[in-house]
Amino acid sequence: MGNATANAIAGPVTFIGAGVMGLPMVRNLLKGGMPVRVFDVRDDVRRSLQDEGIEVVATLEEALNRQGTVIAMLPDTPDVRSVVLGQGGLVDNLPAGSLFIDMSTISPAAEREMGARLAEKGIDMVDAPVSGGVVGAINGTLSIMVGGNDEAFAKAQPYLACMGTNVLHAGALGSGQVFKMCNQLMVASHIQAMCEAFALARAHGADLALMSNALRGGAAGSWMLDNLGPKVLAKDISAGFRIDLQLKDLKLANEAAFEKGVPLPGLALATTLYLEARAHGEGSNGNQALFRTFDRLANQEG
Ligand code: NAD
Repeated sequence: MGNATANAIAGPVTFIGAGVMGLPMVRNLLKGGMPVRVFDVRDDVRRSLQDEGIEVVATLEEALNRQGTVIAMLPDTPDVRSVVLGQGGLVDNLPAGSLFIDMSTISPAAEREMGARLAEKGIDMVDAPVSGGVVGAINGTLSIMVGGNDEAFAKAQPYLACMGTNVLHAGALGSGQVFKMCNQLMVASHIQAMCEAFALARAHGADLALMSNALRGGAAGSWMLDNLGPKVLAKDISAGFRIDLQLKDLKLANEAAFEKGVPLPGLALATTLYLEARAHGEGSNGNQALFRTFDRLANQEG
């Protein structure tokens, strides 16, 4: 389906939340020929968007005053709830026939609840969380895991195709978030395994860069080793994906595991290690800063 057809079906895009991920996603929608305007609560974000020539709106009400597609890329469940159910939010202000695509990583139960409320107003919704990090957002190569009915998925697809290369229909509304939880569980375990390998190698005086290269070509090779391994080697703790957001995702996975009584010991361990990192003031550092937890555990120089 071409972009022109998409615009005819679901209209222009209002994008809410132009942060680390949202901004490059907005740029890719524009590159794909979608008319986009943006709302973000932060004045500095709105100003820099304007400087870049991107249309911004100053209030949520203004953002929702036309039929079309609304995309959200917000930090956590309460943030999405507030723009959907709160004062001036989508349920009360977005015209019937519109489409809401939530690309934030939040609770699947909240997605289902908000979807039901929007459906009463004739508004379609999909949850469409992403994987691939900032690099994937910039390159338009995100993996996007979509939950929703067939019709809503079809309407969302042309927009998602501007931002990702692996767009997958996971099932009913909320299913995208279930896939994303599994993703985050594995991400945390992979980082943990990588940091442990670095800690062991360093304690034995190994050349860490050589060790990393040796492992990358074999069975221990991973996205994590390729993308965050170099940052660990450089002791670069800058975010990408913040430890606070990683903990938010691990909390969602823990809640879902508890709900169904599924014991996940690896998840419990990763959660404990990330809590240790946050307790040491690392919440706004990148999630690869978990290597410093292992430095602390082994009393080694970071
Ligand atoms: P971020 O904090 O950089 O960006 C969020 C933006 O939303 C900020 O600009 C903030 O001002 C804005 N915002 C917050 N509340 C708002 C509201 N009520 N109305 C309007 N704007 C509001 O976060 P991010 O790293 O871009 O992550 C966004 C989501 O994507 C999170 O759910 C995260 O878990 C997920 N995610 C992030 C990454 C990553 O690598 N950073 C990767 C995959 C998924």
